[in-house]
Amino acid sequence: MDKNTYIPENFIEDVKTYLPEHLNLDDFIDHCQKPLRLSIRVNTLKMSVDDFKLEAKALGWQITPVPWCPEGFWISRSEEEQANLPIGNTALHLSGCIYVQEASSMLPPLALRSEIENMDTDQYAVLDMAAAPGSKTSQLCALMNNQGLLIANEFSSSRLKVLAANMKRMGVANCALSHFDGKIFGDYMYECFDHIQLDAPCSGEGTVRKDANALKNWSIESNVDISDVQKSLIKSAFLALKPGGSLVYSTCTLTPLENQQVCSFLLEEFADAVEVTPLDDLFDNASQATTSEGYLHVWPQIFDSEGFFIAKFKKRHSVEHHNQQQKKGAFPFEAFPTKAQNTFSSYLKKQFKIKQLPGTLMQRDKELWLFPDKLADVQNKIKYARLGVKIGAIHKNGVRLEHELATAFGHLATENVHALTEKQAVDYFQGKDVRLEKPTNETGEVILTLCGAPVGLGKWQKAKIKNNLPRDLIAQGQLITWV
Ligand code: SAM
Repeated sequence: MDKNTYIPENFIEDVKTYLPEHLNLDDFIDHCQKPLRLSIRVNTLKMSVDDFKLEAKALGWQITPVPWCPEGFWISRSEEEQANLPIGNTALHLSGCIYVQEASSMLPPLALRSEIENMDTDQYAVLDMAAAPGSKTSQLCALMNNQGLLIANEFSSSRLKVLAANMKRMGVANCALSHFDGKIFGDYMYECFDHIQLDAPCSGEGTVRKDANALKNWSIESNVDISDVQKSLIKSAFLALKPGGSLVYSTCTLTPLENQQVCSFLLEEFADAVEVTPLDDLFDNASQATTSEGYLHVWPQIFDSEGFFIAKFKKRHSVEHHNQQQKKGAFPFEAFPTKAQNTFSSYLKKQFKIKQLPGTLMQRDKELWLFPDKLADVQNKIKYARLGVKIGAIHKNGVRLEHELATAFGHLATENVHALTEKQAVDYFQGKDVRLEKPTNETGEVILTLCGAPVGLGKWQKAKIKNNLPRDLIAQGQLITWV
């Protein structure tokens, strides 16, 4: 029990006005003071759920499946391990095989799962309008199996950097990042997206179990202010959605001001063009958290999780929009010349036996990038902060590969791949060269793996592998092992 959790009286008074009859206020307050269970999601772009179970068993982790997410698990580790090795410094985390994600926050992408699985995967474009730090973006990319296109937008520049770093660690390859107030999408990308996720900025009332001070500045006035932002975002999202597409709106807050009332605004604004898709059968027992409208209002005590709200809508037909805008300015990339492409492809084949990279090679000055093919439809609609995967730097003698080529496409390599031991992996993530057990005759670049997943690039040098880890990714503290 965390008795330091700050729960203001006026917040409790407000909750009393909308707590459903079947729930109990004391139970709610008790759960707000109870620490959260640690949960992770397996990143299936890097590791299968079965392999994760084997790794967890070998580590002595007790795992309990999250009932609504096949890739989600609550984890308990020994107290010593927990104290000596933060989960973020474990091999499973550093390799991008897992993402620490609260169990209820796995629900919004799952609400789009059936749509994603029923579409021709490389043909769709999805928008994640408020994306950082990227737990749900990477979950969507994994559901999309790195196909099609996901535009992940974030308004805060510092959080955009974290989003970019997380996408690299998770091996995401089908993403473009943008840096706008989400309210521009309706005007600039009118009816461009097959599906949209809006995990809106909110007052975070549901996060009090993780952050004892989450309610420190709570007030109805700030709820109202945030709901105005949410209304402008949900309207923009609906305009940006293609007819027939689905929009999932979510928050990690409890007040109807930021949840049901934002949804009512959407329903009123777009009348017969929008309908609610009820979520009562999203998973077994979902009905315990379903509202009369068909939304999921996950109170912390229902599933012993963070508080969350999720609503899903379908766009039944196109809507009129008279304020469509067009971006000015040229697209700053050009095609990578065919001859250079052929030389580069031959190199990848020879060195790594990589037959083909999925996407289109594009160049900007001396930078070489791989764009998801689907990007071509929308590449000129807005200015992007980052497009696809940075593959390398172009030199007169060829291309010097970038770290990200390995994290996103290293799994395609069958030659010049080296599986790091725990000791080697510690050295690698601390930025040191990797000492080999026996000298090697191999030469050139090598892809390094950990837990079976590609984590970076190095260069064979007889008795060692020269470390190419970017400096900003060098990790400190206790890494990978704790005994
Ligand atoms: N979806 C994220 C995840 O699962 O990791 C969490 C998103 S968080 C609830 C909301 C995000 O919206 C914050 O990163 C915040 O910086 C961003 N944001 C705030 N105002 C915004 C706006 N007007 N347009 C787009 N994003 C905004």
